[in-house]
Order: sequence, then C-alpha cells, then structure tokens
Amino acid sequence: MTHIVVLGSTNMDLVTYVATAPQRGETVTGREFRTIPGGKGSNQAIAAARAGATASMIGAVGNDAYGLRLRETLEQSGVDTDFLRTVEGPSGTAHIVVDDEGGNAIVVIPGANGTVDHLSPGDEGLIATADALLLQLEIPLAAVVAGAEAARRHGVRTVLTPSPAQPLPPELLAVTDLLVPNEYEAVLLTDRTDPREAAAALLDLVPEVVVTLGATGCLYLRRGAEPLVVPAPHVTAVDSTGAGDTFAGALAVALAEEKPVREALSWAAAAAAISVQREGASVSMPYRPEIEKQYG
Ligand code: ATP
Repeated sequence: MTHIVVLGSTNMDLVTYVATAPQRGETVTGREFRTIPGGKGSNQAIAAARAGATASMIGAVGNDAYGLRLRETLEQSGVDTDFLRTVEGPSGTAHIVVDDEGGNAIVVIPGANGTVDHLSPGDEGLIATADALLLQLEIPLAAVVAGAEAARRHGVRTVLTPSPAQPLPPELLAVTDLLVPNEYEAVLLTDRTDPREAAAALLDLVPEVVVTLGATGCLYLRRGAEPLVVPAPHVTAVDSTGAGDTFAGALAVALAEEKPVREALSWAAAAAAISVQREGASVSMPYRPEIEKQYG
C-alpha cells in the first residue's frame, strides 16, 4: 500500500442556511444549522485513505467537543491520527452562512490550526516514510515550508494545493514538486487570465502543475513535456464542495502507485466526479472500488 502524509488543517464547518443573509445590525431567523467536519488537510487525508492509501494526518485539534469529532471523522475513514495533536483551546472553525441563492459568507477562526506553526518531534520521521506529502495553506506558512523541506530532505514528493490563494514565498516554491491550483488560484498567482498561460507561468516556478478546471477537467504541465488536457466525466453535479480536495488526494495516491500521469489524472477526475454527485465534502468522497467502477 502507498503511504500518503497530509500536513494541514482540521476545521468544524458551522453552516447556517437562511433565505437572505442578515445585513449589519439586522437579526433574521434561519432555516437550518449543521456542523460538518472539514478543513482542507482533513479532507485530503480522507480522500487519500478512501482512495486506497495508508493516510496519516499531521495537524492539531482543540480539546473541545469539535476536536473529538474531527479526530473521529478521520479515523472512521481509516486515517491514522497518531500525529494529530490535541492542544489547549478551541478547534478550528469555519462560520458559514449560505443563502437561498447559494451565495455564502465565511469567517474562519484558525483555533488549533494556528498552533501548527512548526514541525513537532516525530513529524519528520513520519514524513520520511511517505510516498507523498500533501500540503495546503490553512495552517501557518512556516509549518508548510518546514514540512515541504523535510519531505525534500527525504526524497518525498510534495503536492501543494495553494488554497486559500495567497502569494507563495520562494522558499516554498523551491521545495514544491507538484502544484495543484484551481483556475482562480492559478490566475491569481500569475496575473494571467487564461488558465493555459497561467499554468505555463507557474511552470517557471515548480516542475509540475495541474490546474483544475471544474466540470471541464484539468490541465497538466511538466517541464519539457507536452501539456495534457484531461476532461472530467459528464455527471450531474449537486454539490462540488470538496471536489478539489478529492481530486488532490486521489491524484497523490495514483501517482504514488506509479500510474502513468494521464491515467492518474483520469483516475483523480473519476474520484472527484463521484464526489460532486453527492452532498457534502468529506462524506461525499468515494472509496476505491467506486473510483475503479467510475474509471471503468
Ligand atoms: P472545490 O473548491 O469545490 O472543492 P476547486 O475549486 O478546488 O473545488 P475544481 O476545479 O472546481 O476545484 O474541481 C476539482 C476537480 O473536480 C476538477 O478538475 C474535476 O475533475 C472535478 N469536478 C469539479 N466539478 C465537476 C463537475 N461539475 N463535474 C465533474 N467533475 C467535476
């Protein structure tokens, strides 16, 4: 089995559904409230575990009820949480108001994620045993850089999802093997409006890039190779939340299994296409037999 390590965030999403979001000073009655385990780190770990890897999560939860549920959620999908620390204080939360038009407003409070600003004892040893290290930007940048540098020291492939979008420091780019932005992030990182041009510009910074393009599929570029365009399967999407994390987790597994790149991209697209046909983020992520069936 391949081993994927994820260094990143865990968040409890506190989602309020309301006809129209309140303006400043206004009070409105909402329709429904849900607590949904999330965080890009946790989501990618669940995606990788369900796609058939041994997945380990490095990060932190608070010593509150949300922390217990976030840990349980990972474990229920088979993710190893031995390196997920429980720290004093609240877990990370995302306060989300969704209105009837599908628009949303979000406040993220990092909580325990904010304490993940360095590697803890044992983290580097775990990273050294991995086939790939998955990273995102919902924990302090210092830890993302330290994790990627540790991976590089041990010859472990680093896969970075640059979300939430922000400028990437040279020391992080220097230790990133594969960058997986969505279209919005690719454009923002490069100031190019065309995703192809944005992807080409990113290739000056890292050796491999996959730009995900929603229902269109994805675009893969590697230095010295022809670009690949891999279409997404045609499906009826009901909720695309977590599609990017499903794609990144499944892609890391497929590449670690040494599937050829086009096959690995199609396989990840199959996994993501299943997730968009179901409600929710991590709960919508497919297990390996379902991916194999969709991949055909
Ligand atoms: P999200 O923020 O919703 O998790 P994202 O913005 O990070 O997603 P997208 O580019 O929207 O990333 O989607 C990632 C991948 O998921 C796409 O490359 C594609 O393979 C798949 N995907 C997304 N939307 C659809 C869809 N409507 N139909 C089929 N596949 C989809």
